[in-house]
Amino acid sequence: MTDFNQNKKILKYLTLFFGGFLLATDVFFLIFGILYDMPLMRYVIYFKLVLNTTNMYFIINKHYLVSSVIIYTVILGFMVTGVICTGTNNCFQLYALGMLACTSYNGYMHNRVLHKELPFALLIVIHVLCYTGVYIYAANSDPLYEIPEIAHRILIVFNSVATFAIVIIYICLFHRTAIKSEEMLEKMALVDNLTGLYNRHYLLSILDNSENEKTEDSWIAMLDIDNFKSVNDTYGHNCGDYILHEVAETARQTCKDCTVCRWGGEEFIILCEKHGCGTEQLETLRKKIADRTFSYENRTLSITVTIGVSGYDSNMNNDAWISKADEKLYFGKSNGKNQVVL
Ligand code: GH3
Ligand code: MG
Ligand code: MG
Repeated sequence: MTDFNQNKKILKYLTLFFGGFLLATDVFFLIFGILYDMPLMRYVIYFKLVLNTTNMYFIINKHYLVSSVIIYTVILGFMVTGVICTGTNNCFQLYALGMLACTSYNGYMHNRVLHKELPFALLIVIHVLCYTGVYIYAANSDPLYEIPEIAHRILIVFNSVATFAIVIIYICLFHRTAIKSEEMLEKMALVDNLTGLYNRHYLLSILDNSENEKTEDSWIAMLDIDNFKSVNDTYGHNCGDYILHEVAETARQTCKDCTVCRWGGEEFIILCEKHGCGTEQLETLRKKIADRTFSYENRTLSITVTIGVSGYDSNMNNDAWISKADEKLYFGKSNGKNQVVL
């Protein structure tokens, strides 16, 4: 599934989850309003029930923007009602803070999936105004209803747990999104799309990494497909791409202890920094490719590769090391191709 489709699904299920969550809280507060005789809370809940049920219709029909506006309005409206009914001691005002995490993630998803901006600054101002507003109101007015101690405790627990759950869910979602995006960008920057091998940038970065101590056993090999231009010319560019993919896969499977990367075009670099790792595997690789018959769209073809190898010498820098392998490759190309030049 593409990232876009995955995000679309997440947006749908998140909005559905929130719509369902609101309906569940409606039932809880309706019972609460009936049990402790709070007519204002009951009337607001009836209204909320109508709004939240309508909201489900908007979610199912993918009107996420309308749905988000309804969700924010309902939660902030209910927070104000909760404080008017019972005062600030029952944690209703926490919803304004919890909703900030939800607003922020929803804004992000709207941007990524629907390419629409939520009025984020305006929403923050509304949240802050509601939060401070209820405190100012409570400082000047007594709660509308007196509730017993047990009801007070139930409200504290319910409202705190609900707010923390909202914040934790959205922080986890943001965390997951950030890690996934970084992984994807890293992959795009370091991995070649056609072959799935590391690219030149990755190879140079690991060669530059001083923590990777090279030994006298280390070697670098440059592999180039022979007469590749004629493969493209005879069988087409798509067949050329297929051959590149297959050669890459064979190299990866044969040189398991090495780093195999696509250097560019039809050239690959194999780097071995493992202690005691010989170059015999390169001859195995050459032979495997030469012996194989490749099939593409009912046509068959054979190809060969030439490989130039350069052992590590502490007097050489990385550029010189790679150039030495390239020189050996050039030598092989000028002397019949299909060989490993040590
Ligand atoms: P030699 O044996 O001397 O290496 O000859 P060659 O034909 O392999 O070398 P040359 O450098 O003349 O041609 C390389 C060709 O590789 C030319 C270019 O079109 C092709 N090529 C480079 N990148 C790609 C790619 O991503 N896909 C395909 N299909 N072809 C590519
Ligand atoms: Mg070539
Ligand atoms: Mg070449």
